[in-house]
Amino acid sequence: MSGPSDPLTPPPLRNDCFALPAGTNWTPVDDALAMLRARLRPVVATRPCDLHAALGRVLAEPLRALRSNPPTANTAVDGYGFAHASLGQGDIILPLIEGRSAAGVPFAGDVPAGHAVRVLTGAALPGGVDTVILQEDVTCGDARIAFRSGIKPGANTRKAGEDVTRGDIILPAGRRLTPADLALSAATGLATVNVHAPLRVAVISTGDELIEPGEPAQDAQIYDANRPMLLGLIRQLGHLPVDMGRAPDDRETLRDTFDRAAATADAILTSGGASSGDEDHVSALLNESGAMSEWRIALKPGRPLALGTWKGAPIFGLPGNPVAALVCSLIFVRPALSLLAGSDWSSPQGYDLPAAFSKSKKPGRREFLRARLRGGQVEVFASEGSGRISGLSWADGLVELGDGAQTIAPGDPVRYIPFSSFTG
Ligand code: AMP
Ligand code: MG
Repeated sequence: MSGPSDPLTPPPLRNDCFALPAGTNWTPVDDALAMLRARLRPVVATRPCDLHAALGRVLAEPLRALRSNPPTANTAVDGYGFAHASLGQGDIILPLIEGRSAAGVPFAGDVPAGHAVRVLTGAALPGGVDTVILQEDVTCGDARIAFRSGIKPGANTRKAGEDVTRGDIILPAGRRLTPADLALSAATGLATVNVHAPLRVAVISTGDELIEPGEPAQDAQIYDANRPMLLGLIRQLGHLPVDMGRAPDDRETLRDTFDRAAATADAILTSGGASSGDEDHVSALLNESGAMSEWRIALKPGRPLALGTWKGAPIFGLPGNPVAALVCSLIFVRPALSLLAGSDWSSPQGYDLPAAFSKSKKPGRREFLRARLRGGQVEVFASEGSGRISGLSWADGLVELGDGAQTIAPGDPVRYIPFSSFTG
């Protein structure tokens, strides 16, 4: 029993378990992002890569077209080509010259004024031809074609270089190559591109309670849910996941795991043990190494994110709760890894859409709710508990609520960010 004279008195009750300890300054999300953006640089080597193997790789330098697209003027349709200036008034009849121009098999020679030649889609325009009439618009017979007047000069043709001119920059450095980019590069004469080596990202789960999925479990044990999630996310983001397994809440074992991770990977993601509790060895180790900045980010869900470097490798110490771990990864780790990998910093595309829910939000922290779009409205998961893993699968994205207080009624616009905006 504690009486008025007993020095051990309980603190006042807090009904929000994430309430700020008195006097703590929390870093706003945007400030934390700005700091990451200012501090991180590419850490990956550069190497030439065959175009066929370049999908998803990050360009190490801007790409310049070696060839124009199209390289020569050609016809966009199957039809008949002629010089527009040689057409008279009224209905037109032109004699056809022998031969044709097909894709890859051009007509050798010039087409005299007042004559037409058969042309097939993609064929180079022969000398003397600047206009093509669609085959559906002509009557053909007796080595002649007849068509109505009114065709515009240059109709149905593509000019040399109208898409890309030789020497143009077609793609910037930092671009992660898409299937369309491979087409553009190939079309403009590139067979090899200089790309960054994939960023190797080690993933470590920490906690004495964790066991491997499939293992027999005792009551006090839980299956490691973060590792498959984070390894999968890293792959989706285009990096190379390196599975470093689980580490117990033991400083020496964790130190050894950090050493091995730093030797194998360019960056390290841990989950769990990132706060300042007795068993929070991730933050303790980073503190010890002197390279720790423990960021109390004004973000919900998300306990302090421990950021540091270990033997040169940036470490992101994520919260253990799977929901918080995923949100922190999407908001902070994703753009940070992108910079380390040689890509640009990018913010996910969100959309302002009507809410299908009501909520009264307190000021002080930015909040992300598990959300999905149904019937044009944004629904949020019934519980905000950050241990509710099922809500992550239920959701197709997140709702982002600003740092200030906010009262949301059904129909009010809220910012919805689909998961695909983070990983696309
Ligand atoms: P911690 O950040 O280590 O204090 O962990 C916070 C909560 O997340 C605890 O309930 C942990 O049991 C849980 N947790 C930590 N790591 C994992 C994991 N890899 N998979 C599932 N839950 C975890
Ligand atoms: Mg733990």
